[in-house]
Amino acid sequence: MTEPVTMDKIVSLCRRRGFVFPSSEIYGGLGSTYDYGHYGVLAKNNIRSLWFRAMVQERDDIVALDSAVILNPRVWEASGHVAGFTDPLVDCRTCKLRFRADKLEDANCGRKPSKRPGETPDCDLTEARQFNLMFKTQVGALEDESSAAYLRPETAQGIFVNFKNVLQLARRKPPFGIAQVGKSFRNEITPGNFLFRVREFEQMEMEFFVPPADADRWYRYWVDERFNWYLKYGLRESRLRRREHSADERSHYSSATTDIEYLYPIGWSELEGVANRGDYDLTQHTQHSGSKLEFVGDGGERYTPYVIEPAVSIERIFVALLVDGYDEETVAERERTVLRLHPAIAPVKAAILPLIPRNAEMVEKARGLYDELRRRHVVEYDDGGQIGRRYRRQDEIGTPFAFTIDEQTLGDDTVTVRDRDSLAQERLPLGGVAAWLDEALDRPWSSPKEA
Ligand code: ATP
Repeated sequence: MTEPVTMDKIVSLCRRRGFVFPSSEIYGGLGSTYDYGHYGVLAKNNIRSLWFRAMVQERDDIVALDSAVILNPRVWEASGHVAGFTDPLVDCRTCKLRFRADKLEDANCGRKPSKRPGETPDCDLTEARQFNLMFKTQVGALEDESSAAYLRPETAQGIFVNFKNVLQLARRKPPFGIAQVGKSFRNEITPGNFLFRVREFEQMEMEFFVPPADADRWYRYWVDERFNWYLKYGLRESRLRRREHSADERSHYSSATTDIEYLYPIGWSELEGVANRGDYDLTQHTQHSGSKLEFVGDGGERYTPYVIEPAVSIERIFVALLVDGYDEETVAERERTVLRLHPAIAPVKAAILPLIPRNAEMVEKARGLYDELRRRHVVEYDDGGQIGRRYRRQDEIGTPFAFTIDEQTLGDDTVTVRDRDSLAQERLPLGGVAAWLDEALDRPWSSPKEA
């Protein structure tokens, strides 16, 4: 397609095909909160398990963890979140809306047609004040300060406070990592751009503990590893870049940070961050908890490891993959919308379609194939409507292959396989479809879209 992919197109496809829809919609929704339907869940599961496979399953040096969402509130004092996890907030006295002072150029004010806050003489903005992004709650029946707690704004702290457990129980020594996937919550002042900035999201973080002298080398290693992971799953290289933070942009504890950025419809924006956090976190928790979080070697050497952290959310990956995969084209004078997703990401791996749904023999063969394939992969059987419409539906949800059972199948037990991207069709023996699909899903894939 020649036109740029807009966020509106992505939102509308997600809605139309039941990937993602506004949360609690029958009550008017809740700003920038979304629910995932069937295909959204499948795609998210794929992203999560591919991340886990690369970070844990295929490595000897990283173990998994699943810590609680609500931690002892002292964790957030030690980490610096209570005092400093803030964004600058301004109010407009005219339109009564609130904005992030450092992102005014991305915000829309309350007037119609919408302007940037501060753009017109009528805008009356207050001085910026710091707003803490943590959601506060209470634990137990008492409603006073002693019961105050927070929903975690990142998964990382749950890892740091378990450092000692893992070191001892998993018998690890640096360099080693702890990986965790789970929901994080941030009361963002201006969420938006679909799933790009939401108030609850699923974070995938890995804390890699290393001897201080090796920290820089590991930091560069993880920037490359994570960049290459995106290429492997089909994001176009022309839409990805590394951006190293300047000293004044970095968090106070970080000695180096690189954002892996994707060219979203809103411009180049952070997809994933990779930071060298030094010994900040383990030192803070040692001081606040009194529990020494350090590594002691067999020979008595002791040190506080440095930490390299790649951190990303499934939501930002999902949006990048949707934008990168979305395509429109005209084939034989008909428009089609197609999601060119890497087969490993695609929610459904193959569709099984009887050409004539009223033909009992075709239906029987198709259902037989479906029952065989569904034991190994997520596949879909569809006998509703004309074949062209069914193909188009599968194109829109990104299904890489479709197997069609037709007249000829009844004679010679072969089926047609249709390729989502090239639209090429070939015939295969029915009995060989399962092995063919296994092999096809394992092949490297790269986007046929222009760079
Ligand atoms: P930003 O500057 O965009 O607010 P950040 O630098 O605060 O992001 P980190 O604290 O580094 O983000 O979080 C790590 C990762 O978590 C980000 O790279 C992003 O993938 C994801 N993430 C952070 N905030 C959100 C959010 N509100 N919605 C979706 N994903 C998020």
